[in-house]
Amino acid sequence: MPIDRVLIVGGGLAGPALALALARQNIRSSVFEIRPQRTIADGSIALAPNALRALDHVIGVYDRLKSAGFSYRRLAMHAEDGQLFGNVSQSDSEYDALRILRSTLHNTMLDACEEQPNFVEVRFGVTITQIEDGEDGVTLRFEDGSSARGDILIGADGIHSKIREHVLGASAPKPTFLGSCMVSGTLPLSSIKAPSDWEFPAVLITSVGMVAVWLHNVQGTEAAWYVSEDLPDKDRAAWREYGASGEAARAAKRNYAMVQQETIRSLMDNVQDDAVTLWTPHSMPDIPTWHRGRVCLIGDAAHALPPNGQGSAMAFEDAAYLSRLLTSEEAVKHGFERVFTKFEKNRRTRIDRVRVLGHGAGAAKGGTPAAWKYMLKKWAMSAYFAWNGYELKDERISSYDVTQQDIGVE
Ligand SMILES: Cc1cc2nc3c(=O)[nH]c(=O)nc-3n(C[C@H](O)[C@H](O)[C@H](O)COP(=O)(O)OP(=O)(O)OC[C@H]3O[C@@H](n4cnc5c(N)ncnc54)[C@H](O)[C@@H]3O)c2cc1C
Repeated sequence: MPIDRVLIVGGGLAGPALALALARQNIRSSVFEIRPQRTIADGSIALAPNALRALDHVIGVYDRLKSAGFSYRRLAMHAEDGQLFGNVSQSDSEYDALRILRSTLHNTMLDACEEQPNFVEVRFGVTITQIEDGEDGVTLRFEDGSSARGDILIGADGIHSKIREHVLGASAPKPTFLGSCMVSGTLPLSSIKAPSDWEFPAVLITSVGMVAVWLHNVQGTEAAWYVSEDLPDKDRAAWREYGASGEAARAAKRNYAMVQQETIRSLMDNVQDDAVTLWTPHSMPDIPTWHRGRVCLIGDAAHALPPNGQGSAMAFEDAAYLSRLLTSEEAVKHGFERVFTKFEKNRRTRIDRVRVLGHGAGAAKGGTPAAWKYMLKKWAMSAYFAWNGYELKDERISSYDVTQQDIGVE
């Protein structure tokens, strides 16, 4: 049962990644993106070794990305007073982590799609009005009266997925706000003061919340900073207004005014109210199934995780693994329903593991307002790093190799 065309809804990270992986195996796809042109949230993104492995061996854009971002082997962790807790390894035997502008990552993948017009079509500004999932294919109908037909439909339309509603019906659960938003911006590293022996990237755990300084250009001269802030949820328009009005930046400056450490002070003094980006991380409760008929979800549409530096990695692993299944004649001969069942089973196991193992990485982000709680946290972190020789290395998430996953379908 050769595949003629795969329909992919969502032109963020997982959608173009799947299209590229399929194109490498001569399978055609069409990517449908609701936004009128290439757009992605501002700021930079960390690509862990497991993300890079999928981007290298299956998706095929690693070399281009590596020459456009900052490679780093470790992340320094400090207390509010600047004390170094220790370092957390960010590399494995094959790759160092890579920090890159989100727009560069996105544009690199979309450029690679455009270079293969015989295999990948990307349409922007399309609004889906209907999904018809039939015996021998899927038809998408759009608001402008046009339509598209393919063998299967992959929903890569992110955390607020419409395709998830098609798969699950009206009872589809909604994502929940995690209670902490991330305010971020970029600055030349030279404008951030730090003791001469400090290395970046670095994270400071403070009594207000977490402050991170990452580097995202090849030379390591451009910094991206993040601070976390605990807030009650708002609707999407109110969050947009909170960022665009400059209130998010002003609130961050107010909150961190009590922290005197020089890196945080110089950073906050340089923040421009109208030049910050807001990320309001949501996560999805476990959903009962990721697929129905010829339709299957990948990426955040299926399983958005709390922030732990693995969201994009899970999207790339999904795309890489599904492409391996779809390009295996042996797998596809059993029918798409079974291919999707295999996909979900394998990927759920992995996602659950990353959710559990990655919990610590996200937990540090929440604020701890009471002084005694902060002191307790500082003591616990000092003891933990000292116990581990001041260097934490845990490759259980990052050493994962999607090319070694079983693609046998029964
Ligand atoms: C500011 C920020 C910082 C982050 N930092 C990190 C990080 O450092 N490391 C990390 O691993 N992860 C990070 N993440 C998470 C990571 O970006 C996501 O996990 C990842 O983008 C998920 O990919 P996706 O393709 O599933 O969804 P998305 O990238 O969100 O793409 C979904 C796409 O679908 C489109 N779409 C939505 N509805 C429709 C529709 N009805 N029809 C057509 N198209 C539609 C959207 O416009 C979007 O382009 C960050 C996220 C944000 C916002």
